[in-house]
Amino acid sequence: MKAVIIGGGIGGLALAATLERNNIECVVHERRADLVSVGSALVLHPNGLAAVKRIDSRLHAEIAAAGYSLPDGTPTFILDGDGQVISRRVLPPPLRPVTIRRAELHRLLRSHSTTATMVYGSTFLRYETDRNRVRVHLTRDDLRGRSGDFEPVTETMTGDVLIGADGLHSRVRRQLLNDGDARPMGLTSIKCIAKMRHDDPYLRGGFILFGRNQQAFCAPLGPDVVYWDVTIRAGAGTWPHELEQIQRELLKPQWGWPALVQNMIAAADLTEMIVTDLRDRKGARRWSRGAVTLLGDAAHPMSPFLGQGTNQALLDADVLAKMLSSHRDDPAEAFRHYEMARRDSANQAMRDSRRVGFEGQTGNPFVRWKRNRSLRRAVTP
Ligand SMILES: Cc1cc2nc3c(=O)[nH]c(=O)nc-3n(C[C@H](O)[C@H](O)[C@H](O)COP(=O)(O)OP(=O)(O)OC[C@H]3O[C@@H](n4cnc5c(N)ncnc54)[C@H](O)[C@@H]3O)c2cc1C
Repeated sequence: MKAVIIGGGIGGLALAATLERNNIECVVHERRADLVSVGSALVLHPNGLAAVKRIDSRLHAEIAAAGYSLPDGTPTFILDGDGQVISRRVLPPPLRPVTIRRAELHRLLRSHSTTATMVYGSTFLRYETDRNRVRVHLTRDDLRGRSGDFEPVTETMTGDVLIGADGLHSRVRRQLLNDGDARPMGLTSIKCIAKMRHDDPYLRGGFILFGRNQQAFCAPLGPDVVYWDVTIRAGAGTWPHELEQIQRELLKPQWGWPALVQNMIAAADLTEMIVTDLRDRKGARRWSRGAVTLLGDAAHPMSPFLGQGTNQALLDADVLAKMLSSHRDDPAEAFRHYEMARRDSANQAMRDSRRVGFEGQTGNPFVRWKRNRSLRRAVTP
């Protein structure tokens, strides 16, 4: 069996590594020229880490070694908009997340898919299916302009199955489900990495700060380095493009950030800054048709408030490869089982993430009171 994967992000690379372990040939088409230069970091939670361990225990150990996990007894905090503590928790080792640079995770996933063919600078355009094969039309950067004009040159690949792991604005999904683009949430997220001494307990253990119409998050990424994210109410495309200007805007007094967050923003390494208009969708009832399916953000794009996007993509990769391996002669059946195993919990994560985002930033005093009360009950002494 030959699998064609569109998108060499986290989901596509994790799937390639998992298919390799199940002896299934695959080729990955990624539109970017490389994935080493992707910035910022992300947090792997116990569910995503467990999926990685099932995929390959050596990969799991390498991720744990390359990432950062809180030392024993270090509390993590939930703060209100003024920086006052709502709750404080010490997580036991099995529940501790691992924070890792995105480029490092890409590198490790890639190093575990040595037999997969990776084609960078290759953009998916459309596909066709007949009874047994999928034909995929792509345009390659290195073919562009070869004919002397600037018409894109296309090429066609064939495979037994096609997996759209092409992220939030998935073109495979557009053709497969024809259900429009993910909807803007009216929120902008700014993520970055900063060098900061961990003298402060909030920086040492990390925190989430729930403000009115805004939120901040910080996780230690190594000794004296933090990964941070702030989310503010701002429509798609309305935030400035220039990074210094973004930093200056975020530091304006109108936001009312406590000193802790201001210091974090001021210490930003601007080469790592990523600005994203947040989008999500309602959960789809199906992701697959015949020999074509979706994985990761293409299947279930979600807001970042639970930090579950990557983790859900890793869970998808683990299940999808196993289903393909046990139904090699019937990909449609494999995809039906994959969808049944993954759809409800991924769609639930989308809903929970949206709810947590709403409750975290609400101005409604009753919702805030209820939220803080349940968070205080979760406090670990
Ligand atoms: C800065 C940042 C921090 C994040 N932090 C977290 C976190 O802490 N925890 C968490 O769980 N999630 C986090 N997320 C969300 C997480 O990154 C995504 O949910 C996750 O990457 C999904 O993986 P994916 O493979 O589905 O999509 P992606 O990783 O986005 O990969 C999709 C790939 O497809 C390629 N592509 C797109 N269109 C085409 C095409 N037509 N042809 C070929 N290739 C194409 C893209 O170039 C991209 O490389 C974060 C997101 C960002 C931006």
